[in-house]
Order: sequence, then C-alpha cells, then structure tokens
Amino acid sequence: MGCKHIYEKEPAIHYISTKKPHPRCPVAGCPKILQVGWVVCDALLIIEIDEMRLASAININSTMVEDFYRS
Ligand SMILES: [Zn+2]
Repeated sequence: MGCKHIYEKEPAIHYISTKKPHPRCPVAGCPKILQVGWVVCDALLIIEIDEMRLASAININSTMVEDFYRS
C-alpha cells in the first residue's frame, strides 16, 4: 500500500514516530503516508538510498538527509 520509496529502517521509524499521525513520505512530490510496516522489511535500503541520492531525487532538508544516512 506504500509508495516505492525506500528508507533506512531506524531513521525511517524515528521519522514516522515524530511525524504522527501523518508522516508523509519525504520524497518531493510524493503524497504517500509512511507506515512502519512497509519500511522495516527491506534489506537493500542503503543501496536504494544511494541511488536516490545520486539521482538527486530527494528534496528534503539537510538535517533529514543526515538522519536518513546515519546507520
Ligand atoms: Zn514516497
């Protein structure tokens, strides 16, 4: 039910917990609401995030970038 954007597990869960009740996907233009259930089950998060970074597909503030890249 989620979007296809993928995030690191721990920072994504933290992000969701701080953005309740409507933690929107931080990807620019994405209207989806993040849910823990589909954040925690992907093992290829770092690769996906690196690809997104290289593609400059993320338009989020620097603090959030730092949180998402820290593991
Ligand atoms: Zn998204």
